[in-house]
Amino acid sequence: ATPTALLVGTGRGAQLGILIKGPEVLESTRAVDTVVLDKTGTVTEGRMTVIEVIPATGEDRDETLFYAAALEHASEHPIAKAITAAYPTTPVATLPAPRKPADAETGETAPRRALPTPEGFANLEGLGVRGVVDGRTVLVGRPQLVGSLPPELEGAVAEAHGLGRTAVVVGWDGRARAVITVADRVKATSGEAVRSLRALGLTPFLLTGDNRAAADAVAAEVGIEKEHVIADVLPADKVDAVKRLQAEGRIVAMVGDGVNDAAALAQADLGLAMGTGTDAAIQAAGLTLVRGDLRVAADAIRLARRTLRVIK
Ligand code: ADP
Ligand code: MG
Repeated sequence: ATPTALLVGTGRGAQLGILIKGPEVLESTRAVDTVVLDKTGTVTEGRMTVIEVIPATGEDRDETLFYAAALEHASEHPIAKAITAAYPTTPVATLPAPRKPADAETGETAPRRALPTPEGFANLEGLGVRGVVDGRTVLVGRPQLVGSLPPELEGAVAEAHGLGRTAVVVGWDGRARAVITVADRVKATSGEAVRSLRALGLTPFLLTGDNRAAADAVAAEVGIEKEHVIADVLPADKVDAVKRLQAEGRIVAMVGDGVNDAAALAQADLGLAMGTGTDAAIQAAGLTLVRGDLRVAADAIRLARRTLRVIK
C-alpha cells in the first residue's frame, strides 16, 4: 500500500471530525458489510429522564428515591444521572419535575436531605450498582438484580417495558422497594445515519443491555429490522454477539460509547467510538467520531473505501 494515500485519508478524516488511530485502520474498513450499533448513547442521546417512581405497597416513594439517588451519585451511568437529578437537594421549587409534590395549601416543597456518600460502592457493570447507605445495603439495577418482585412492581416493570421505557428496581435488605422508570430519546440524526449506512451496503444491527421492548422501539424508530435487534445482553456478552456475527462470515464494524462496549469495539473488524463517550471506548476503537454524530460513521466508511481505491 502507498502510505502517502493512507496519510491523506487520515488528514481528510480529521476535517470530517474522524480521529484515526493509525493509517492502517483504514485498511480494515475495506470489506465491512455489517454495522453493529450500541443503543444507549450511540443511537439514543444517552440522557435519561426519570418518568415515574413506583413504590411497593407499604414503601415511601421519597425514601426509595433518596436511597437510589444516594447510591447512583457515585455512578456515571446515564440512568444514574437521571435518578440523581430526580432527587434535587437544592432549591426544589426552581427545578423541573419530577420533584416532591408541593404542599397543597402553601405550594411549598419541603427541603430535602443532602445525599450521603455510599460506602463500599460497587458498579455491577451492565447490571446496576450496590453500596451501603445509612447502614443499609442498597441495590439499584435490572429487575432481576434484586430478586423476585411483588406483583405491583412486576406490573410496573411490564407496563414500562410495553411503553418502550427502561425500568430499574431499588431494593435493600433483600427486598425490592420501588421501580423507577426512565426514558431516553433517539438522536435526531440517527434515522438518517442508519439510511446512509444501508446505502453503503451495510446491514445494521442494534445491540444493547437494555430490555427487548425498549430496544425494539428504538430499532423501529431508526429503521432497523426486529430480527437485527440483540437485546438483554450483558456487557461481557457484547463481545460474543460480535464474534457470532463474524462466525457467520460477516465483516463487522461496531459503534459504541460505553465502558461496556470496549471489548466489542476491540473485537470488531472496525471499532468506532463516539467522541462524546468514555475513554475506555475511545481507546479500544480504531476510529473516533469526534462530535458523537452517528452520520459521520458512514462518512468514515466512505472515506476509507475511497482512500483504498486510490492506493490500489
Ligand atoms: P447499553 O448496552 O444500552 O449501553 P448498559 O449495559 O449500560 O446498557 O446497561 C444495561 C442495563 O443494566 C440497564 O438497562 C439497567 O437496567 C442496568 N444498569 C446498568 N447500570 C446501571 C446503573 N448505574 N443504575 C441502574 N441500572 C443500571
Ligand atoms: Mg452505550
